[in-house]
Amino acid sequence: MTALTRSDWEQRAKDLKIEGRAFVQGEYRNAVSGATFECLSPVDGRLLGHVASCDQADADLAVKVAREAFDSGAWSRMAPVKRKKVLQRFADLIEAHGEELALLETLDMGKPISDSTSVDVPAAANAIRWSGEAIDKIYDEVAATAHNQLGLVTREPVGVVAAIVPWNFPLLMTCWKLGPALATGNSVVLKPSEKSPLTGLRIAQLAIEAGIPQGVFNVLPGFGHTVGKALALHMDVDTLVFTGSSKIAKQLMIYAGESNMKRVWLEAGGKSPNIVFADAPDLKAAAEAAASAIAFNQGEVCTAGSRLLVENSIKDTFVPLVVEALKGWKPGNPLDPQTTVGALVDTIQMNNVLSYIQAGHDDGAKLLIGGKRVLEETGGTYVEPTIFDGVNNAMRIAKEEIFGPVLSVIGFDDEKEAIAIANDTVYGLAAAVWTSNLSRAHLVGKALRAGSVWINQYDGGDMTAPFGGFKQSGNGRDKSLHAFDKYTELKSTWIKL
Ligand code: NAD
Ligand code: MN
Repeated sequence: MTALTRSDWEQRAKDLKIEGRAFVQGEYRNAVSGATFECLSPVDGRLLGHVASCDQADADLAVKVAREAFDSGAWSRMAPVKRKKVLQRFADLIEAHGEELALLETLDMGKPISDSTSVDVPAAANAIRWSGEAIDKIYDEVAATAHNQLGLVTREPVGVVAAIVPWNFPLLMTCWKLGPALATGNSVVLKPSEKSPLTGLRIAQLAIEAGIPQGVFNVLPGFGHTVGKALALHMDVDTLVFTGSSKIAKQLMIYAGESNMKRVWLEAGGKSPNIVFADAPDLKAAAEAAASAIAFNQGEVCTAGSRLLVENSIKDTFVPLVVEALKGWKPGNPLDPQTTVGALVDTIQMNNVLSYIQAGHDDGAKLLIGGKRVLEETGGTYVEPTIFDGVNNAMRIAKEEIFGPVLSVIGFDDEKEAIAIANDTVYGLAAAVWTSNLSRAHLVGKALRAGSVWINQYDGGDMTAPFGGFKQSGNGRDKSLHAFDKYTELKSTWIKL
């Protein structure tokens, strides 16, 4: 994949067929209303195509189709070993179309093509494959009953799952939901972000090719307040799974309460602390990880290490190492395989990030590097990776999720203060600790209120471990067998013998 040059990718972009219609009952079709919206690339502002703008009528249709598919049993009652094979084929097809999907992802949301090919696509295929492979290896339970009773504890698919996903890892977040939802036999209606609908739409066709029956996987592109809301309020959606901001996550809980009490599982935002103690085993490695933790994916990462907590005794030596490391992360055209920082997803997000940079200045933080929009002449939305020092945890840039490449450096004197600052946030998605002291690593790790804790690294994990948040970072977990809990109901059956 990496052998392609920028001009190869540009040529492919020209030849690319962009499918913007909704996908319902195994085929692409226009929104019921016929409405569309423009899909613009943040790479250079080019028009990629027109995308169906779905609304309530499409939600009603897709949920009906999904319900009928579920009730037919074609997928929901297929033997697990067969569902496994179909999902393995689906994963194979995602990989086989890897370059096309990577290109769609990069054009649609601006991330470097080298990340789309090496991270997003393989991880997405792996999420589908891992979930599929697991499904014929999970057993139900027999209760410890009296002699004349047989108590069966079984798991059943919930039925119709609506999945609403964000734009930062569009394909990957989709597949984190789709893998376990489909493996357990559910029907799915996916609503991708209006900012990045293209890969979700493309894989719907691949799902059919893989052998997933019509109607089991449907995709409705469109806006949150129209089709997203319609799905969240729908009386025949059993479970709503979401990745996105905490603000919308809270709204979805209200919609569930106002409608049918559908189960709601939320992966939301973060403001993750990356804590570097003076006894960190390798300060250079820690500095490089700190830079990557804020620059990778343009900082548009829920687990971005956006608060760098540094022990004051090493601050003057450590922070310059981070500045140095961040110089290696330069915005460039995402279709160039050398580029490590692409464009922010759109103008709205760019302006949002720039307004936080202004807030850093206004609140008295000290800019060390970056801080500006760049490459404006390209028509794209690029912002330099940025570091503010002298930040305290009460400043807006330390409290609010920026979702861009802006790092806040906060000093601390001791372990107790580090833990207090780290936990002083409404979020609880991830945290990292750098220390050579084994006891300190464990004790601080235990004290951190976060769903993922990394020791002497930033951002570890794969499909084998659950991923999700404490506090306002959400509930439930994606990945691992724990994710299957979200897509199944437990049933107890008592048989009198
Ligand atoms: P967002 O909350 O604005 O939108 C997410 C999705 O919700 C989109 O598809 C959007 O159209 C939809 N939506 C918006 N309003 C809605 C409504 N009223 N009803 C129904 N749906 C609605 O988030 P975003 O800007 O797309 O993504 C960035 C956010 O996602 C960040 O907060 C980030 O931390 C979070 N995120 C979390 C994780 C995680 O796993 N915890 C992973 C990636 C991103
Ligand atoms: Mn887009």
